[in-house]
Amino acid sequence: MSKPDYPTRIGLEQALGIVAARCAPHRLPAEAVSLPDAQDRVLAEDLRAAHDLPPFANSAMDGFALRGTDLPQEGERAFALAGDVFAGAASTPAVGENECARITTGAPMPDGADTVVIRENVRVDGQRVVVRAGEKPGANVRMAGEDFARGDLALAAGTRLRPPQLAVLAALGCADALVRRKPRVAVIATGDELVPAGQPLGFGQIHESNGVMLVALLRDAGAEVVAVQRVRDEPAALRAALLDAASQADMIVSSGGVSVGEADHLPALLAELGEIHFHKARVKPGMPVLFGQLGASLYFGLPGNPVSSAVTFRVFVRFALASMLGETRAHAVRRARLSETVRKGHARAELLRCALATDSEGVLWATPHARQGSGMLRGLAESDALALLPEECMELERGEGVTLWP
Ligand code: AMP
Ligand code: MG
Repeated sequence: MSKPDYPTRIGLEQALGIVAARCAPHRLPAEAVSLPDAQDRVLAEDLRAAHDLPPFANSAMDGFALRGTDLPQEGERAFALAGDVFAGAASTPAVGENECARITTGAPMPDGADTVVIRENVRVDGQRVVVRAGEKPGANVRMAGEDFARGDLALAAGTRLRPPQLAVLAALGCADALVRRKPRVAVIATGDELVPAGQPLGFGQIHESNGVMLVALLRDAGAEVVAVQRVRDEPAALRAALLDAASQADMIVSSGGVSVGEADHLPALLAELGEIHFHKARVKPGMPVLFGQLGASLYFGLPGNPVSSAVTFRVFVRFALASMLGETRAHAVRRARLSETVRKGHARAELLRCALATDSEGVLWATPHARQGSGMLRGLAESDALALLPEECMELERGEGVTLWP
C-alpha cells in the first residue's frame, strides 16, 4: 500500500493544530439578533458601554440621604426632612446643611447629598430624622459608572452569551446583539445494523444512538442541525448523503465507517469527493477519527463506537465549532487528582470517563469509571468529565494531577 498523502496516526496536539488551522478560514458571519434570541450565541464584536452603569449616582439602600460632613462625631443629630425621592423619580429635592431626604434603593441621589443612612439606623420624629454617631460619610451610595464606565469593554468578542451576559447587554441599553451565525451541521449515522429507537430489532441489529447523541451535543454547542440521515454501508448511498449534506451545511459530522473494515467506505469517499486533512489520531478511544473537507463543508468522520463518537466529538468537533464561532473560553481547563493509579499500556493519549468529587479539603478527585470500553454507554452516562492521560505517561499514580475536558 502506498503512503497516504495526508497526515495519519498523528498525536493529539498535532491533530488539534490541523483542526484549528483548517477551521480558521471558516469563521462564521456575524448577524444582529434580538436579545432573547441571543441566548447561548457567541458575541461577534467587542461590546463597549454606551453609557455609565449605573447611569447616575443612586442609593444602595432604603434610608435617608444627607451630607456626610453633617454626620455627628458623637451623640446624635437631628436632620430636617426636606422631601422624598423614590426610584424612578423624575426630579430630586435639594438637600442642604443638616437636611435629609427619604430615599429608596435605586433612587437618584438628591443634589447636595453624598451619603445614605439606612432606615434601620435612624429615629424618625415627625419631620425630624435623628442620626447617631458612627455612620460613615459616603456610605450606601452607588456611583455613576462604578459597574461599567462609559467606553469600558463590557463583553469581549467571543463571549458566549449566557444569562448574566444578556443582563449586561440589556443594562447597557442594547436591544440586540451582533453574534456569529449558528454553524449549520448535517449529521449522518452510517451502518447496516442500525434501526431507529421505537422499532423492533431484527437479528444482528442495534438501535441507532450516535445520531441522537450527536444532534444533542451539537445543539448544546450552539449549532443548528440542518439534516439528520441514517445511511447504509453502501458507497452509492453514502456518496449521495455526503453530497446532499455538503450542499447545505457548514460542517458534516458522521458516525461509523471510518476504520479499515470492508464496510468502512468513508475515507475513500472523502478522498474522492473532497480532501482528507488527517485520518487517525493517537487517542483512545477514537483512533480512526477522520477529518477533511467536502467543498465548503468541513467534515468529521467519528468512529461508530458510541464512546468513541462522544469523545472525538468533545475533543475535535467541539474544538472546531469554537474556532468557527471565534468562541473564547470554550475549553476552560480544570485539573483534578486521580483517585487511583492508572496504567495505560499503549502510546496514545487516553480520555478516561471519570466521576468527579470534592473532598473535605476542597480537592477535586477524578475516579475513572470501571467500564472504559469504547462501546459501553454506561461509562459515559455515569461520568462527569473526561480526564486526559497524555500520550507519554504510561502510568499515573494515585494523587497525580490530570487535565479534565468538560
Ligand atoms: P464502525 O465505526 O462503523 O465500525 O462501528 C463500530 C461500532 O459502533 C459497531 O459495533 C457499530 O455497530 C457501532 N455503531 C456504529 N454506528 C452506531 C450508531 N449510530 N449507534 C450506535 N452504535 C453504532
Ligand atoms: Mg459501521
